Amino acid sequence: MSGTLFIVATPIGNLDDITFRAVSVLKSVELILAEDTRHSKKLLNHLDVSTPLRAFHDHNEREKTQFVIDELSTGKSIALISDAGTPLISDPGYILVCEAKKANCKVVPIPGPSALITALSGAGLASDNFTFFGFLPSKQAARIKVLQALVSRTETSIYYESPKRILATMTDMLLVLGGSREVCLAKELTKAFETINTGTIPSLIEYLTVDPNHQKGEFVILISGVAKTDTIAAEAKLDTLLPILCAEMGASKAAKLAAKITGIDKKHCYQRAIDL
Ligand code: SAM
Repeated sequence: MSGTLFIVATPIGNLDDITFRAVSVLKSVELILAEDTRHSKKLLNHLDVSTPLRAFHDHNEREKTQFVIDELSTGKSIALISDAGTPLISDPGYILVCEAKKANCKVVPIPGPSALITALSGAGLASDNFTFFGFLPSKQAARIKVLQALVSRTETSIYYESPKRILATMTDMLLVLGGSREVCLAKELTKAFETINTGTIPSLIEYLTVDPNHQKGEFVILISGVAKTDTIAAEAKLDTLLPILCAEMGASKAAKLAAKITGIDKKHCYQRAIDL
């Protein structure tokens, strides 16, 4: 009988945000895999957990996975934790979980905090339909491209962002999405300086620049979707615009221009242009 691989969510700031079940699993397994053993030691000491720890991070995940599968095959139970929140959510563990499942090992997730869900529950933005995209690209050109794809999305979009780039990202966002889109900056969640600011992009840029300390810490960015009525209006504009443009130029050029004018995704405009 192979052992069980537990995927255990840990706090994102406040050390009390951990479930009874998570603590009991961490105490009962034979080994805990942690991204940064020194960092996790503080949490485990706080919880009175003395289970042996081993490093498991982005740089050794591939190499360590076979060792973990071998240990599971001998019947050992092992827990994976990350520095904060839920493992695999912008954190290591994906390769391990895939391989463990292929090897028919039991994988049991132990739910708990994740910054994206914590932020969404306090943002005051639509939460019935949302997409989490992980980290935004660090290079400006790639970031702008990603933001352009949000122009016509109707659901709430969620990103993680580093304090080093938060101001540059908000500035790019203003350029691409304009000044009226509602955005939430959720900073230092569950910690002493937790701040959840929901407002327009210019008001959030003002918050970040009024005091450089406001740019420090960990951030989740939530961007509201474009109102459905705006989408209907843009589609109606596309209906009149596309036949005129297509009569003057090729479908690809017409779609590019129509996308610029209406804010609708270029691929969608192209599909509509070739369907005319
Ligand atoms: N696995 C984690 C989770 O479940 O949320 C995410 C890990 S990812 C490497 C780290 C990023 O998550 C940070 O750069 C930040 O964007 C976000 N994050 C983590 N803790 C946070 C907190 N307390 N407040 C705001 N954002 C946080």
